[in-house]
Amino acid sequence: MGRYIGAVCRLCRREGSQLFLKGERCFKDKCAIKRRNYAPGQHGRRRIKLQGYGLQLREKQKVKRIYGVLERQFRLYFHKAAAGKGVTGEELLSILESRLDNVVYRLGFAASRSQARQFVNHGHFMVNGRKVDIASFQVRAGDLLELREKSRKNQIIEGNLGTAAGRGIPAWLELDAAKFAGKVVALPKREDITMPIQENLIVELYSK
Ligand code: SF4
Repeated sequence: MGRYIGAVCRLCRREGSQLFLKGERCFKDKCAIKRRNYAPGQHGRRRIKLQGYGLQLREKQKVKRIYGVLERQFRLYFHKAAAGKGVTGEELLSILESRLDNVVYRLGFAASRSQARQFVNHGHFMVNGRKVDIASFQVRAGDLLELREKSRKNQIIEGNLGTAAGRGIPAWLELDAAKFAGKVVALPKREDITMPIQENLIVELYSK
């Protein structure tokens, strides 16, 4: 599956908000949004008032960038959400939030979702006792996630667990740092997702 490999701070500047794509740096004064809060490029300082389609498009791009998902997969997620019984926008966010790379990030094993994706791809994690190396793997309520025995000496992951403690673990997950394990207590609900997202704009965009 493809992934964006360009400069990530540009993405935050384009969306005009912190998307937390770079780990620790996002919490420091070096954050590009804190230093240059205008869109990248030659005309970035121009003020453009977005409305209608422009607003919807930016919201969709923002959410794709937060979760590191490209258009094709994002659209598949939308169709899956629309086919579900719940509110489409909320279902979409729940599907994105239930990706294994996001769970690894939320539990604090990784400093960013892109690092979490790399850890998963490199086979550092097990779900319910079996190695899973697919970042888009969807977790379910009751799933048990563990860092594999041979990866427990990984100093980067160990360091991440230490610094992520201050970030907090969402209510739908449970971390047992001593056992390098986490549990999906329940699937995430809308109120568990605290990033400023207006999912109704995405639904409107795809419903045209
Ligand atoms: Fe975005 Fe983080 Fe870069 Fe700040 S440091 S612009 S939050 S990726």
